[in-house]
Amino acid sequence: MHPLPPYKRAFIGLGSNLSEPRSQILKAFAELDKLPQTRLLSSSSLYLSAPVGYAEQPDFINAVAEIETALAPHQLLDALLDMEHRHGRVREFPNAPRILDLDILLYDDLSFHEHGLTLPHPRMHERAFVLQPLHEIAPSCMISGHGEVAECLERCTDQRVERLEG
Ligand code: AMP
Repeated sequence: MHPLPPYKRAFIGLGSNLSEPRSQILKAFAELDKLPQTRLLSSSSLYLSAPVGYAEQPDFINAVAEIETALAPHQLLDALLDMEHRHGRVREFPNAPRILDLDILLYDDLSFHEHGLTLPHPRMHERAFVLQPLHEIAPSCMISGHGEVAECLERCTDQRVERLEG
């Protein structure tokens, strides 16, 4: 008998502000569920947020997905980069408009920085467009080194994020 692979819980941040952003995010939820050895457990509402860094671009649609996966962190990152590529993402400059951005926010309770991957995601604790959808689906979630998601959210009330209905 083969042992079952160790499934881990992870949270993925999704963002888009080009080429029908809502449908990019909804398609990405479905594609996360179809990744090998991976299952979508829950998905947040969609949120509208102001762009960070480079302001001359459309607002973003953001969301967070909770998955369970037997992919190792770097395998998961490769799968997400591949999904971004299939959606037609082109990397122009930092904070540029994008068809689809996928970040690993949390992977189990791992905390590391290795071969181009940092966990927890290094900027998630200061971004309301990540924290608000994460808080919706995992209110008691801890961000290693920064405390509970609700505490982090209280520190960025100046950022405009609006939950979209329906
Ligand atoms: P960006 O698409 O601009 O968010 O940058 C993606 C790159 O950031 C990836 O190719 C990774 O090498 C790096 N990176 C570092 N930590 C993470 C993470 N937790 N999730 C996704 N990408 C990460």
